[in-house]
Amino acid sequence: MKKEHVILVFPHPDDEAFFCSGTVMDFVSRGVPVTYVCLTMGELGRGLGGANRQTLPELRLKEFKKSCSILGITDIRLWGYLDKTIEFEEPERILQRLLRLMEEVQPTLVITFYPGHSRHPDHDATGELVVKAVRRLPEELRPTVYGSAIFKKFIEHVGAADVANDVTPYLDRKTASIKAYPSQFMKYIKSIDAGHMEGVPDYRIERFWILE
Ligand SMILES: [Zn+2]
Repeated sequence: MKKEHVILVFPHPDDEAFFCSGTVMDFVSRGVPVTYVCLTMGELGRGLGGANRQTLPELRLKEFKKSCSILGITDIRLWGYLDKTIEFEEPERILQRLLRLMEEVQPTLVITFYPGHSRHPDHDATGELVVKAVRRLPEELRPTVYGSAIFKKFIEHVGAADVANDVTPYLDRKTASIKAYPSQFMKYIKSIDAGHMEGVPDYRIERFWILE
């Protein structure tokens, strides 16, 4: 059997925290290597967290590294595209880069966003590129692709998830990963600390739709 290796491909530092951090911790705890490709530094993020536009990328990198260390991810690839522009990048260049990465790492699973169902043009574009890249591989080399969907009533939109991981055993560390991002998640962090969970996405179950 092929040796397990997981790749995360997300456009922004913080995309892992709510959607897949528990699942990732489970892989790491079983000794499965995880590579995280983050396409931008999220330098146009909504929150500034005390930084300004110039210093925000630095702050977001610091937050990102903290979250990755909580998750146990050491193989981090920062591809340096500009935030909010993934849909305008030359797709072929990113596709080739993804293909080279997959050749290098030989992943068995790639986790990304569900294109068309992830509420942000960068998210949708990223998921679409991953699916396209995987479909170019010979069938026997194709990893499974998990897509995360974001919206409140996702089940009505795309049907029940194919995979629903109960990550309760990792909830403390998952919360720590969310709290690693005060610049982006302050609203949620305050609610979590106050015990007011309404308005905070339910993060005990991580749901994925199998795209490939
Ligand atoms: Zn994002």
